[in-house]
Amino acid sequence: MSRFDGKVGIITGAASGIGLAIAEQFAREGGHAVVADLNLDAAREAADRIASFGPQPMAVAMDVGDERQVEDGISAVMENFGRIDVLVSNAGIQIVKLMVEFPFSEWKKLLAIHLDGAFLTTRACLKHMYAQKSGAVVFVGSVHSKEASKLKAPYVTAKHGLIGLCKVLAKEGAEYNVRANVVCPGFVRTPLVDKQIPEQAKELGISEDEVVRNVMLKETVDGEFTTVEDVAEAVLYFAGFSSNALTGQSMVVSHGWFMQ
Ligand code: NAD
Repeated sequence: MSRFDGKVGIITGAASGIGLAIAEQFAREGGHAVVADLNLDAAREAADRIASFGPQPMAVAMDVGDERQVEDGISAVMENFGRIDVLVSNAGIQIVKLMVEFPFSEWKKLLAIHLDGAFLTTRACLKHMYAQKSGAVVFVGSVHSKEASKLKAPYVTAKHGLIGLCKVLAKEGAEYNVRANVVCPGFVRTPLVDKQIPEQAKELGISEDEVVRNVMLKETVDGEFTTVEDVAEAVLYFAGFSSNALTGQSMVVSHGWFMQ
């Protein structure tokens, strides 16, 4: 008997990085993983791989910032599996620039994916979770849900915002046995981070090695990156917790970069 036997979990942005690791671990523990991503080909590839070791997965194309696509995607999951037990709101991007020159269009794009995306996917799943009288929503926040860094105005704003969204959901969802929590990772070596190392080096006028050592990992206790597996474990801890004792919370997984 595994923790997620027979459960259905939708993980957004699961074609890559952290979301992919969460989907894989969810499937290893018996769950039907729904790989929801902008990139349908990559989502299908991930789902095919997961099918080789886990229960029937599903790939869904979805831009989390698009209301219609989210509603259609969640309806397709309901048609296929008839229930939704877990939503991991994980899809995200990063854009690094000084605030003074941040284009408004890029500010809006980032907020649309992180905040509109979290709201829309949550809202679409909630009606089914409320009808079932059970469910868990886990938002993938960041150390930047609690701390700031230069060059990341919309990202830090959005990640702080997820904590507020989570707390409201914890209060509204309680009577339906729906819990909401946030996992806040430190730096994890995924395509999202690999892309920003040269960008930050350019913006800050330092080498890529200095970005890693003196910007990303400087405040950690051991100079190490957090791994996708570390984050998946924390997310699934929240997802698998079975009472409202643990709701409205956030957990930082960052090698001690941020201690609360
Ligand atoms: P990643 O780039 O490896 O994966 C992100 C995935 O999201 C991709 O598959 C991409 O196609 C998908 N995506 C992007 N926009 C989308 C949209 N509009 N709709 C649906 N899917 C979309 O990134 P990652 O590092 O795995 O990041 C995942 C989450 O973890 C993000 O929310 C990110 O902010 C957060 N996070 C990452 C780190 C890190 O260091 N990598 C640290 C803290 C938090």
